[in-house]
Formats: sequence, structure tokens, C-alpha cells
Amino acid sequence: MLKIGSHVSFSSKGLLTAAQEAATYGSSSFMIYTGAPQNTRRKPMDELYINEGKEAMQASGIEEIVVHAPYIINLGSYKDATYKLAVDFLQEEMRRTHHIGVRNIVLHPGAYTDKDVDYGINRIAEGLNEVLNGTKETDVNIALETMAGKGTEVGRSFEELARIIEKVDQNDRLTVCMDTCHMHDSGYDLIHDLDGVLKQFDDLVGLNRVAVVHVNDTKNPRGAGKDRHAPIGAGWLGHEALHAIVHHELLAGRPFILETPWIGKEAKTQRPMYEAEIALLRGNVQERFGDEFLGHVERLHHFFEKEGIDPRSYVINSWDTLKNDAKAKKADPREPMERLYDLVVENDVLPDLSEEAINQRLTAWFAGKSVLVNA
Ligand code: FE
Ligand code: FE
Ligand code: ZN
Repeated sequence: MLKIGSHVSFSSKGLLTAAQEAATYGSSSFMIYTGAPQNTRRKPMDELYINEGKEAMQASGIEEIVVHAPYIINLGSYKDATYKLAVDFLQEEMRRTHHIGVRNIVLHPGAYTDKDVDYGINRIAEGLNEVLNGTKETDVNIALETMAGKGTEVGRSFEELARIIEKVDQNDRLTVCMDTCHMHDSGYDLIHDLDGVLKQFDDLVGLNRVAVVHVNDTKNPRGAGKDRHAPIGAGWLGHEALHAIVHHELLAGRPFILETPWIGKEAKTQRPMYEAEIALLRGNVQERFGDEFLGHVERLHHFFEKEGIDPRSYVINSWDTLKNDAKAKKADPREPMERLYDLVVENDVLPDLSEEAINQRLTAWFAGKSVLVNA
């Protein structure tokens, strides 16, 4: 079965809370941070509801899950205090990950700040050697994430990841987390040349190292080096390209994890968009949402056709305007998803539906008419 899910909360009852949230999205996998990604405050291991969480996972058919290390860890830092904190805290996080029963912890390799990329690569490899040596009692792998190349991030190319891996003694415990938004933003053409990109990765790093895939759309054009995630279909990659990645035979068996944002006015009361995104990527929309939902999506197709709006060109043109036309952006800073939502509401296309419900149907509209045909 396809392993697909999203980032979920690990707060309050730890693994139980996470498993319950994942189940509401129809997930078959999920990812957690063991605490706030910005700090090192962590709950004691015996307050993580691990047994209860595992029972809940089993009940909804979730086997493999993933942990993400916090952003404050920077193994690339030349500052001794920052580096030492990174090594110590990553070791602690690995022990926690082991205790929860998870195989891979995703790590942003690091940033070289005032130094250069060669320095960063050496320093990160030094740090990984230290971390792996100190955690031999665990069977946890570190999954280095492919980065967008924002600022001084290391890991923006497959070459950089390969150079780090090469320098690490126990590199059988190093895996990779591919992030679709990051790879696109750093320049890889996942839309027109997915096979070529995977081949390049295989030659440099080895596809057998891929342990996790982060599935995100992106707010920026290819090569922008930005790293801003968009909901599936609402960005430059689009539903079709992401669907092809999730179902690619060379990536089969890996957990696919969404880290997509909620775009809308009622962030406090509405859930993230994961449930619709998961069903669309998995291909069980009718089963999950029913025929009435598909009727609504059909209505959206009629409405937007009448308005002369095509999903792909509308999304791309909107982002393009926001990026290149400062005046237009100032006059109307709304993202494509917000604009489409407002159009639907102003024209009363789907009366009496919540913002979340409308956004779910818009997400399905992004996926094209095959969603209706296959039903
Ligand atoms: Fe990440
Ligand atoms: Fe990611
Ligand atoms: Zn990102």
C-alpha cells in the first residue's frame, strides 16, 4: 500500500495525538517533530504515549513513520557552541527517535553562514561522524534532506549530498529525504525530466539511499532558491508532476509526506488541506469524499470554463504576476488559491460550504477532470 501522510502534531499526548490526527486525513504514514522545531525543550520519554500511539497506528494501518530534527541544529556552523549543541542535541533526538521506534530522522544538513560551501561540507561530515559514533546503540538513520539553496544552505545539489556522504565513516546510516519543493527551487526539472533527475540522483548518491519523500508544491519558479511551500496543485509544480513522483516505480515503498500550508482566512478553525491532498494523490477521492463532493468539483469545472479560467495557467500566471509586477502585487497580494476561493464565494458557486470544504474542492479541481472520470 502507498505510504502517504503529512506532518502532524506531537503535542499533548505525543504519539497518540499524532496518530489520531493522521487518521483524520486518511493517512498511511506521518511525520512528527519530537517538540518545537525552534527549541530544545522536550518532554520526558515516558510521557510520549508510545504504546497508545502504536495501537492507534495499527488500527488505521500506519506502519512506517518519520521524525524530523529541529531547525536549530546546524552541523555546518563554525561557532563551537552552535556546533556542539547541534551534535549533542541531534544525538538526543536520535535516542528519542529510536525509543519511539522510528527508523529515519530527517535532517537539514546545515548552513555554512560566514564560511564557504567546502567548509560547510567538511564541518557537517565531521559532525555526522561524531553523532553516529555516539549513537551506535540505536538503529536510527539520518536522512539528509535535499535543500532549496536558500541563503548558505548546504545540500542544494546531489553533488553536495554525495560529498558529505563520502566523508562519513558509517555512511550506511545515512539516507536521504527528497523534498520536491526544494529540488524544484534549487533547479531540478521535476516537471519535464523526472526520469533524468532520478537518474542523476542515482548516479551521484544512489536511489537506494532515498528513505523519505517530502511532497510539496512551491510558490516559486524553478531555480529560485527560495523554499516556500504551496498546497498541491496551487504552485509551480502542479498536481500532475507531484502525482507522477508519488507513483514513480523507482520511489515505490517510501513514505511520502506532505508539508503543505493551509491557505485561507480561517486558519484557526479550519484543518490543513491534507485530507483532500492525500486522497487526490492516492486516487481514492470518491471513496473518501463521496459522489456529492465530485458533483461539486464538476460544478467548479463548469464555472471556471465559463469564466475562461484554466487551473494550470491561472496558478502560474498569478504567481508570475506576484513575483514580477510589484505594483500589481501591492494592489492585490492574494495568492492563487485565495483568488480562486474568493471567485467561488462571490459567484455563489458552492453555497453553504465552509472555507475548508471549498478549498478541498478547489484542490480536486486542480487535479483535472480525470478525478471525475475515474470515479
Ligand atoms: Fe525539512
Ligand atoms: Fe521538507
Ligand atoms: Zn521547505
